[in-house]
Amino acid sequence: MGLFGSIWKPKLFRRSEIIGIADDALQLAFEASEDAHPNEYMGQLRGQDARKLGLDREGTVITDVLLAPGTKTTPTSAEFKPTYLPNDLNSVGSVHSHPNGVLRPSDADLATFTKGKVHIIVGAPYRRTDWRAFDRNGSPIDLDVLAVDVPDEQFFDFTQADIDRELR
Ligand SMILES: [Zn+2]
Repeated sequence: MGLFGSIWKPKLFRRSEIIGIADDALQLAFEASEDAHPNEYMGQLRGQDARKLGLDREGTVITDVLLAPGTKTTPTSAEFKPTYLPNDLNSVGSVHSHPNGVLRPSDADLATFTKGKVHIIVGAPYRRTDWRAFDRNGSPIDLDVLAVDVPDEQFFDFTQADIDRELR
């Protein structure tokens, strides 16, 4: 009997599965893409644990869209620098726009998708259906759009009821 046969193996990857994107985050990506038109927009996706968002599910929800620093964009290409994704545990992938409306990754996109788990392409004319999500291999994946309230990570929100309770 192997000495290490019964070592418990934690399910390291289950919790980090991406189960969806917050409606607000997707909206932000659309607004940024429209603002950048006719140039490409490129940003970074960040996620939070679903349970912290009050969802009764295991996994990660994309809650933030950050502009990739130093990204130069033109109508045909955003210079996607593989190094632009900081070594950030909350970073789950990328989002960028295709002003030509093609909702497919380019060869250049595919070469960079290996970094991160989820990659979103938003296309002109930026209707709410004009987007697709892809995995690291460039295969389309289903990503739920979730109506969640994203709590601020640094500050607490106090309601009047909380304040009244505190003063009582
Ligand atoms: Zn692209």
